[in-house]
Amino acid sequence: MRAYVGLGSNLGDREATIERAVELLSEADGLQVVAVSGLRETEPWGPVRQPAYLNGAVELETDLPPRTLLDVLLRVERELGRDRSGERWGPRTIDLDLLLYDDLAVDEPGLTVPHPRLHERRFALEPLAELAPDAVVPGLGTVGELLRGPMPRGGQSSSGTDP
Ligand code: ATP
Ligand code: CA
Ligand code: CA
Repeated sequence: MRAYVGLGSNLGDREATIERAVELLSEADGLQVVAVSGLRETEPWGPVRQPAYLNGAVELETDLPPRTLLDVLLRVERELGRDRSGERWGPRTIDLDLLLYDDLAVDEPGLTVPHPRLHERRFALEPLAELAPDAVVPGLGTVGELLRGPMPRGGQSSSGTDP
């Protein structure tokens, strides 16, 4: 199965941490890193004032089901010192989000695929488009189409439906 993971960091040595995350992913069982996008600096998103992010994406080939893959991502985050005690959407050493998994749509407690805010975030769509402009975001169109379409103001959600 083909899967795409968003990479983000805005604390510490952002580039080194992202590189290490990709390395740890490539060492994990059940998956291979196929391609890595370029990294770009992006404005922080959401309600919390915080340093700028470095964002990118990786393409994976994997046998792991989505839930198991998410567990791998959360484990790598922990290994790289991700501290979840702060506010939601606050600064972090590393953030690994499962953006797309094949053409699958999953919505269960603790796991939503495609990532529920992917389509409204340039910082996630742009690196993804570098790897797979024609990948389909189930129900919404291709990555390239979403990037060319209108983006919610400031790249933020205004739906107020976040948990
Ligand atoms: P956002 O989801 O808006 O990007 P975030 O990355 O800061 O915010 P986290 O605190 O990293 O959110 O994650 C909160 C929880 O989201 C995780 O514990 C995980 O269970 C859940 N989650 C649901 N779907 C996904 C997904 N596709 N990728 C990563 N985490 C997900
Ligand atoms: Ca995120
Ligand atoms: Ca996350």
